[in-house]
Amino acid sequence: MKESLTSSTLFNTIAMARHESVFLILVTEGPDDSVAIREHVGAEVQLISGVGGRLGVLEAAERAEKARLRSIFFVIDADYDRFMDEHVSYPQGVIATKFHDLFMDIVLESQPLLERILEVHLRSATRSPKSRVVPPRELIEAAMRLATTLGTLRVVNEKEGFGLRLRNFPLGELSLRDELRSQMAELAIRRTPESVVQVDQLVGLMGAHQLPRSLDSNHLVGDHDFFGALAVAANKLVKIAVSGDTLFNGLLLSLRCDAFVSLAQSGTAVEELMTRNILACPCAA
Ligand SMILES: [Zn+2]
Repeated sequence: MKESLTSSTLFNTIAMARHESVFLILVTEGPDDSVAIREHVGAEVQLISGVGGRLGVLEAAERAEKARLRSIFFVIDADYDRFMDEHVSYPQGVIATKFHDLFMDIVLESQPLLERILEVHLRSATRSPKSRVVPPRELIEAAMRLATTLGTLRVVNEKEGFGLRLRNFPLGELSLRDELRSQMAELAIRRTPESVVQVDQLVGLMGAHQLPRSLDSNHLVGDHDFFGALAVAANKLVKIAVSGDTLFNGLLLSLRCDAFVSLAQSGTAVEELMTRNILACPCAA
C-alpha cells in the first residue's frame, strides 16, 4: 500500500511536470543519483528525484507508459533483476544500469577515479614507516572478492527464498585470510535465528551458483556492499580507519565531467544518458 501511494505521488509529480514543461524529464531512483548527475544534465532536461525506491520508480514508469506520457526517462538500478530473469524487460523510457547500480557502472568502467580516491586515503599510511605499502588495485581486488561473495549470497538467498537477514551485513567481522563463503554463510545464519537452512547447504548452493551467460561476477556487486568492503579492506590490510560512507562521498565529490565522458562507449547507463542528450557531457560543469 505504501509502495503504491508513493509511486502515485511520484506519477502525479511527473504528470504535472509533463503538463507544464516542454522539457525532457529524467526521473532518478533517489537523491544520490540526482546529486551525481544534476550538474551535467542538458539545459532542456528537468530532473526529478524518485520516491518510493526502485519499485516506486518502476511503478511510476509503468503508469507513465499506460498514460502515454512522452519524453520521460527513468534511470534505475538493474539490481539483481537479470539474475532472476536474464531477459527481464522494463516499461518504456526505463534506462537500467549495466551493472548492479549507477555507481557501480561508474566505478567498474572508470577505475582510475577510484584509485585516486584511495590514494588520498592511503597517504597517511604511506607516511608511516611501519605500514605496508599496498597499491590501491590490491584493495579494490580484495573488496571485489568480499562483495562478489556477498552478492552471490544475496542472489542465492533471493532465489531460494531463505529470508536471511543480509541488510548492513557486517563484513568487518570476516577474516580476509580465510575462506569467505563459509564465514559469510555462518554469519548470515547466526543473524537470522529463525532460518532453517544449514551452513553446509548454503555454502554448497553458493559454490554451485551459475552466473547467467550474459553476466560476469562484477554484476553481483552493489555499491553499498562494495564501498563497505573497500573500507574493510583498507582497515584490515592497511590499518586505515575509513568508513564506506566516507569513501562513497569521495566518489561523489570527485565525480567530474571527464569521468562521465570516459564512459561514452562503456555500455553503461551513463552512455545511454549521453546518447539521448540527457547528460550534456562534455559540459561546462
Ligand atoms: Zn558533464
